[in-house]
Amino acid sequence: MMTRPSSRQSTSVTKDSSPTVPIMALEDIFRALPEGALLGSETYYVASVRSEGASCNIYGVEEARPMFPCPNLECGYIENPVGQRDCTSCGTSLNDVVPIHRRHQLLEYRDYSDVSMIAHVAELGLSHPGLLLYPYFVEQPYGKKVRYYLVLPDPMPMLASNVTLPQKTARVLDWGAQLAEAMAYLHVHNLGWQKAGATHIALRDRQAMWVDFNTIQPLPSDMAEAVQQKAQDVAHLTETMLYLATGKNTY
Ligand SMILES: [Zn+2]
Repeated sequence: MMTRPSSRQSTSVTKDSSPTVPIMALEDIFRALPEGALLGSETYYVASVRSEGASCNIYGVEEARPMFPCPNLECGYIENPVGQRDCTSCGTSLNDVVPIHRRHQLLEYRDYSDVSMIAHVAELGLSHPGLLLYPYFVEQPYGKKVRYYLVLPDPMPMLASNVTLPQKTARVLDWGAQLAEAMAYLHVHNLGWQKAGATHIALRDRQAMWVDFNTIQPLPSDMAEAVQQKAQDVAHLTETMLYLATGKNTY
């Protein structure tokens, strides 16, 4: 399924191993992939091209592998694979269940510099309920030119910067506790924000998660500076929570 710029090759039977000029030229062009193209080691296929840019293309993609969501509403498990007759989680029969292909938003970057911090975070293999980490992969859909990919939820959860204010205090305190735990986890892994605010927080139901890891930075190697940075992060979190609970900036 992967489209490659090979259609103009001659039909001569001689095996010509020298690289062809047209491929080199095509590699320099950052074009969006066509609908139906497979990506992520054939995990996703392009369902739609949402936008094309000079350094970033955005696709609507679906997972190539279908899943069978459990019909038992109290269970709600969706990741039953093909061939599974009963729900893996609760044992409910999966007869007559219509398969789904999970959807995502896929961001395609031309330059590594746009994703370098996210790549670093991905390499660390972090996992925490208070972090909304995007799967990241690298691929060469055309020739040898590498492209960098991020898989985002579709739709994206709402950002804290977009919620109506003020929010209920009890709810904000709950968000704050979750975010503080996730922030401590990041600090343990030597990562911090320079200035974390409402745009770095995603909200889904009662869950609050840090997002936007491209603006995260390694903590300073100097111990005292690192301690100061951590304290600043905590102060920014407190300020943001206060803002969500009152609608007022404390500055
Ligand atoms: Zn189930």
